[in-house]
Amino acid sequence: MENVVIIRYSEIFLKGKNFAFFENVLVDNIKEKLLDIKCELIRMNKRFFVAGYEQKDEKKIISKLKEVFGIHSISPAVKIESTEQSINDYVSSLKFNKKSFRVSVNRADKRFPISSMEYGAKLGGLILKNNKDVFVDLHNPQINVCVDIRENNCTFVYYDVISGIGGMPVGTSGSGLLLLSGGIDSPVAGYMMAKRGMPISALHFHSYPYTSEDAKNKVIDLAKIISKYTGHFKLFVCSFTEIQESIHKHCNSEFMITLMRRIMYRIAERVAIREGIQSVITGENLGQVASQTVESMTVTNAVVEKLPIFRPLIAFDKEEITKIALEIGSYETSILPFEDCCTVFLPKHPLIKPKLDKCIKEESKFDFESLITKAIENLEIIEI
Ligand code: ATP
Ligand code: MG
Repeated sequence: MENVVIIRYSEIFLKGKNFAFFENVLVDNIKEKLLDIKCELIRMNKRFFVAGYEQKDEKKIISKLKEVFGIHSISPAVKIESTEQSINDYVSSLKFNKKSFRVSVNRADKRFPISSMEYGAKLGGLILKNNKDVFVDLHNPQINVCVDIRENNCTFVYYDVISGIGGMPVGTSGSGLLLLSGGIDSPVAGYMMAKRGMPISALHFHSYPYTSEDAKNKVIDLAKIISKYTGHFKLFVCSFTEIQESIHKHCNSEFMITLMRRIMYRIAERVAIREGIQSVITGENLGQVASQTVESMTVTNAVVEKLPIFRPLIAFDKEEITKIALEIGSYETSILPFEDCCTVFLPKHPLIKPKLDKCIKEESKFDFESLITKAIENLEIIEI
């Protein structure tokens, strides 16, 4: 008899020929997650279990598994041999403090000689015999005693099925460079793409000394929170000060935000291509602010020529985004009151419907290309 944690993965993405690939990536991700806990991960047909750990670590194992994409559900369980005698003995020893129960037998190993229904009734009888004041409720029991008789002489007995975070294992889709600000949206955008299996890196623009060291540290903290779900990644930090000062000095102030964003996107694409990253991710959301209109996105999109831009939050309500931020633990950090470079030199009347030809004309007023090259040369790289 041994305490184990059963891990079930979503089968949706495992139907095709890529089964082994998805499963291997998931195994690697789980192993990395549990690296600092003494335990082993054992594969079975269409599920895994964690074994060989000290009981004090079980809660920690479960909370870490709840941060791994691709896991559908988790159950702390007891593993026993698949003989009728050992199952009977174990189930007879169960003591409940709840009143109603049912037994659900799953006979994945069809060589087990008794049918699931028949055996469930028999085990229910053993529980009734050994517990006072309990009764069977098949439809709405307080405890569902699950007895899962599997291949390789393994039977699992458990009560709880804890939801995992679902999604696809990180590393099973192409990669993305997340434009990470200190706000609420962009960490959630990174999380959403990672949930689809995308490994991410991040790029942050700061305007020191207009923005503070604290603002940058806040972004590092946000990156650490995202990395709980994505694994380690690189955070590129880019100084935007000179670029912003140049736009401010040379261009019509109405264009400040639009031009800033066009330059951010140019830098993002070049950094992504240099690093072999296949897409750009932003936390943009339709209609939220002046720079997030269809017209604004058209002129910013226009500078990105080779890569797709993913905006997973485009149609979300702020409330929905906030809910996810709270769930993933980024919200508290996001609302710390440090300024973002987008709020420096903010014009009184930013353009809501910028025109591409006018943006190009404004940009011709200064040599942004050499500033971009310089900014990329001086990128700081932080391993998260
Ligand atoms: P967020 O909450 O993510 O900051 P927001 O609602 O404040 O978003 P904007 O400031 O318009 O919206 O930014 C839109 C997107 O542009 C952000 O979600 C982020 O992807 C990117 N972005 C904004 N500022 C920065 C920055 N300083 N560094 C990197 N990316 C940024
Ligand atoms: Mg912002």
